[in-house]
Amino acid sequence: MKTYIVGNWKLNFTVGEASIYLHKLLKTLPNYRDIEIVAAPSTVALQPLSLQIDRHKMKLAAQNAFYRDYGAFTGETSFTQLRGLVDYAIIGHSERRYILGEDDKTVAKKVAAAIRNKLTPILCIGETESERAFGETADVIRDQLLGGLSEVADDDLDKVIIAYEPVWAISSGKGAKLATPDEISEVVKLIRKILGETYGTKLAEQVPVLFGGSVNASNAGAYLTVPGVNGLLIGGASLILNEFADIIEIAKRVRV
Ligand code: PEP
Repeated sequence: MKTYIVGNWKLNFTVGEASIYLHKLLKTLPNYRDIEIVAAPSTVALQPLSLQIDRHKMKLAAQNAFYRDYGAFTGETSFTQLRGLVDYAIIGHSERRYILGEDDKTVAKKVAAAIRNKLTPILCIGETESERAFGETADVIRDQLLGGLSEVADDDLDKVIIAYEPVWAISSGKGAKLATPDEISEVVKLIRKILGETYGTKLAEQVPVLFGGSVNASNAGAYLTVPGVNGLLIGGASLILNEFADIIEIAKRVRV
C-alpha cells in the first residue's frame, strides 16, 4: 500500500500564493512512486493549480464539495464539477462537522457523491476531547465510520480512505494536545476491527487509514510507524514549505 501525505491548506493562501507555493514544492519533489503526495487548496485555486501540477509527482484534493451533481444549489460546487481537477476529496473534516454543522447523513451523501464521480473520498472521523473524557471514543468512531460509509456499496470500500483525526489533537482547536502513538494505535485497530466486522477482513485490510492532528516534521516519523497507519493528513505544517518537504522525506525514509 502507498503512504499518503496529504496537506490540508484550509482557508489559507490566495490563488497567487498557492501557485507560488506549489511551484516551489514541485521543484523539491522527486518522483516518489510509493508515496502519494496530495495538496488540498481552496476550491477557487483548484482549477489553475490543476493545470500547474505534475500529476506524476503529486495530486490535488478538494476540501469539500456538495453531494448533488448539479441544480439549484446556490453557492455550492459539485464533485462532478471537480472531476478532472482533483483526484481526492476530504470529507467530514471536524471543522465542517463542528463549525459548519455537517452531520453523518450529509457526510455519507458526500462520500457517495465523490465515489460516483470517480474521486477518492478521504473520510475524516474523530472524537472530541469531552467525548474521549466520557469514554465515548469507540462509539463516536463507530458512528462516524459506519455513518459516513452508509451509502457506499461493499464493492466500493476499496475506493475510500479513512483519516483518524482526534479533534483534541488538531492544531486549530484550543489547547490542542499531541496524540501518543499508543492512543492512535488503539483507535486505528478499532477502525480496522469495525471495517472487518462489517465488510470482511480482506476488504478492510485494503483501506488506507491516515492520522491527522498537529503533525509536523518532529513527530511525523513516530506517527508513520504506528502499526496500521498508512499516511498523514497535515494542516498547519503543510503551509510551511520546508516543513512539508521534510515530512515527505521522513515518509520516504520510514518506508525503506
Ligand atoms: C487538519 O486540519 O486536518 C489537521 C490535522 O490540522 P493540524 O495538522 O494543523 O492539526
